[in-house]
Amino acid sequence: MRAAVYHGPGEIRVESVPDLEIESSRDAIVRVTNTAVCGSDLWFYRGQSEREAPSRVGHEPMGIVEAVGDDVRSVEPGDRVFAPFVMSCGFCEFCRKGLHTSCVNGESWNGDNGGAQGEYVRCSHADGTLVRVPERHADDEDTLQALLPLTDVMGTGHHAAVSAGVEAGSTCAVVGDGAVGLCGVLAARRLGAERIIALGHHEDRLDIAEEFGATDLVTDRGDDAIERVEELTGGGVNHVLECVGAASAMETAVGICRPGGTVGYVGVPHGLDGGLDLYPFFGDNVSLRGGVAPVRAYAEELMADVLQGTLDPSPILTKTVDLDGVPEGYRAMDERDAVKVLVKP
Ligand SMILES: [Zn+2]
Ligand SMILES: [Zn+2]
Repeated sequence: MRAAVYHGPGEIRVESVPDLEIESSRDAIVRVTNTAVCGSDLWFYRGQSEREAPSRVGHEPMGIVEAVGDDVRSVEPGDRVFAPFVMSCGFCEFCRKGLHTSCVNGESWNGDNGGAQGEYVRCSHADGTLVRVPERHADDEDTLQALLPLTDVMGTGHHAAVSAGVEAGSTCAVVGDGAVGLCGVLAARRLGAERIIALGHHEDRLDIAEEFGATDLVTDRGDDAIERVEELTGGGVNHVLECVGAASAMETAVGICRPGGTVGYVGVPHGLDGGLDLYPFFGDNVSLRGGVAPVRAYAEELMADVLQGTLDPSPILTKTVDLDGVPEGYRAMDERDAVKVLVKP
């Protein structure tokens, strides 16, 4: 089989790798039909985070089940499935409480399991991880592209909105106009937010934010952004979705949060080596909730909306490549030529 392999910063190559086989009775082998390059992949691509080299990459798989182990009950060969960015068993303490990202049997893609930016992946814990797309939708390409973001960014944007306590009639703000921030806008609208202020710096992305339901756009930076949101809202918003993870984004998030409000954060923290300044949270009783999104917990709920045509995050997929185009996909995202790259192996 062929797969994209990371060889060091800026270097992704598509090459032959050993075929995957069923190794345990709970495994499934999935032939990848749709996957994506993630904003989080840019951290190692830019050399800003450590990663073993060589190592296989990609964590947002969708495809057709090719083979299953003897104990797999929920899917069978031929089923169209997608899977979250981590695998989970579905039966441990944390899976049962909807915190699949803390699964005690959890595993990642990328290593021996294949890496989703390749022709095949092996899913250990197929029953707890794979989400089956109902047969009547299983070959509709538009539907599949709308479902693909549920593997990561749509579930993550939703987690930000849920963590921030967004509900019908809320006024909220979304910090960040990357794929997760845009999905956060969509999630906030889906939960009934009345006013959604999107903060970002890229016109093409903010156009998508508007399409997704943002009612106000703020392009200022730092203190100017905080002032602008305070002006717009008479002192800040009760619900802030922090979708970047950088120290400056967290400062903006708490800065625009109304006293007593909540920041729902899903951005992978970085640049916070000096620690997070708790005083702004302390001074105004601002709550901080969130963390890595347990997207498996939200998959069925979000899929139901996609299948009935009321949720479509696919406009974030602004570029499509085949497997050989994966290196070009990384380049395009690195240089912000694309919001998110769809890969069709
Ligand atoms: Zn991702
Ligand atoms: Zn588990």
